[in-house]
Amino acid sequence: MAPTTQTQEAPLQPTATSQAPKPTESSPTTAAPQAGGGSASEKEPKEQKAFERWTRTLSLITGIGLSQEEFQAEIDKIERKKCELRKEQLIKTSPGVRFMMNNLVKSGCPLTKNMMECGPCDNTKAGGFSKDHGILLCQNGFFSKKHQEHTMIHEMIHMYDHCVFNVDWDNLRHHACSEVRAAALGGDCNWTREVRRGFYTFTKQHQECVKRRATLSVQGNPKCPSRDAAEKAVNAVFESCYNDTRPFDEFY
Ligand SMILES: [Zn+2]
Repeated sequence: MAPTTQTQEAPLQPTATSQAPKPTESSPTTAAPQAGGGSASEKEPKEQKAFERWTRTLSLITGIGLSQEEFQAEIDKIERKKCELRKEQLIKTSPGVRFMMNNLVKSGCPLTKNMMECGPCDNTKAGGFSKDHGILLCQNGFFSKKHQEHTMIHEMIHMYDHCVFNVDWDNLRHHACSEVRAAALGGDCNWTREVRRGFYTFTKQHQECVKRRATLSVQGNPKCPSRDAAEKAVNAVFESCYNDTRPFDEFY
């Protein structure tokens, strides 16, 4: 609301002549302080706050008045808020997320809220799991709420595997198995996602996608020397791990 009164002040003056009686009546009280630049102090505190918020948003959009760091900090804050909000919503409404949370409880490894946090990541990632820190959701890595949902399920599969199967994450085959399961069950490879990536073919599309995604993830393991090694690890475990849909009955 504040912005309109602010921007209208100047342009309205010439046209206001048509409403002559009113401005002349009120001009001694309202027009004088405005002309002196004291309009801010005249504003209601609430209105003033709204105005400050608005100029801040404007600075954010234009980048004017903010340093690079301030600008990034503001973006981070907004993205974190959005990511945390979606997380809360998905915990309440997503059948897949709820199912995994329940199964983590049943497995003796309940996922508390502070074990799944939103944070900024480099642009290639959507999420991560660490046995020591829990799940990281890449607040700047999601292109939709669905993508965040799939990522949450994907990372919860890793957490489930860590809890139930005692995974040695330094062992590439162990890691590959969990990546195959997470990619297959987390929804990373449903067809809309694949079309978006331009990889959609009708033959064995899902399996090919899971292999490709799992290989990429294993490649990111510090213990993995090459893409070739990642591919070998994935191929070695693919058959059995792809068909192991626990705790789901089938592909979600
Ligand atoms: Zn993964």
